[in-house]
Amino acid sequence: MKNWFNQNFLGLLVKTNGIISKPLFGGIGHIFMLHRVLPDELRNEYTFNRDLAITPEFLEQTISQLKKENYQFISLDELHLILQKKRNIDQKFICLTLDDGYRDNITYGLPIFEKLEIPFTIFVTNSFPNGTAHFWWYWLEEKVNRNNELIWKNKVHSLESEEQKIAVYNLLRSEIKNSNLLNRTKICSEFFEKTPEQIKQECTEIALSWDELRSYKSHELMTIGAHTMNHLSLANLSGEEMKWEIESGKLEMEEKLEIKIDHFAYPYGSFEDAGKREFDFVRQLNFKTATMNHPGSVFSGSYKSRTFLPRYPLGNNINQEKLSNYLNGIQHFSTNGWKRAL
Ligand SMILES: [Zn+2]
Repeated sequence: MKNWFNQNFLGLLVKTNGIISKPLFGGIGHIFMLHRVLPDELRNEYTFNRDLAITPEFLEQTISQLKKENYQFISLDELHLILQKKRNIDQKFICLTLDDGYRDNITYGLPIFEKLEIPFTIFVTNSFPNGTAHFWWYWLEEKVNRNNELIWKNKVHSLESEEQKIAVYNLLRSEIKNSNLLNRTKICSEFFEKTPEQIKQECTEIALSWDELRSYKSHELMTIGAHTMNHLSLANLSGEEMKWEIESGKLEMEEKLEIKIDHFAYPYGSFEDAGKREFDFVRQLNFKTATMNHPGSVFSGSYKSRTFLPRYPLGNNINQEKLSNYLNGIQHFSTNGWKRAL
């Protein structure tokens, strides 16, 4: 949001509290992105990754509030029909999606979704049920919080102060996120010193298994979507690697679960992690929708951008003001300017 006019216009949108922004930038609805659903005591074990989890209480309270405000919760299949103009909707919609395939989605999330009759999608990364997922974001947090220094690529990084911990976490996060499978596997065994057995054990503890996914696959509220084989930042891979990550993830899941997988979410999901090359390939594979991790509203003309739909993160760090900025389109304008669909 650089230029003077847009800055002042944004100020006006904020001052008028949604009256101007909602019709212009609120769109026809919103997609929310969650990861884990954890009670406060488990969520608070983390510092850097705390907001990866929403508490069951806050989830229930937010859904109830949105229902009271007349939002209709729909599945991604229904969204696809609406975008194709094959279905009308007279209220604004919300789609709830949960990324990666954590078991707590079922343990703590499902009872709320059932109680309030909320359709939801879990985007599963195959390495989660395959028992090979690198939970490096948690390992990195632990390493940074527990140590006073660490060595990365032959350089010693001091971790004495809170600021240093944050800076080192962010630096390493970006380097690990952007590595390919070969390099990441090396980082996991050499830097994090994780054995395949330990990795499998962690997956068994926190990820949904294929058996669990099979037992919920026909649940009337639940959609299972694809989230690649190994959760790598696709735009940072070679063309071949990128295609393999997306296509074999989909095919393996279809084979293991004997269902069709029609929806996709890009790992990490910013425009640095997925771009035109990825959007085109996802379209070639005939996914009905694909979602980013980029803030924005969905518009009636969003069918053309159905393979890169925006999503808002939903966690306990989202207060009332942020939530209403999402809903009334102020956040959309502030991030995307005058562009309606992305
Ligand atoms: Zn993810």
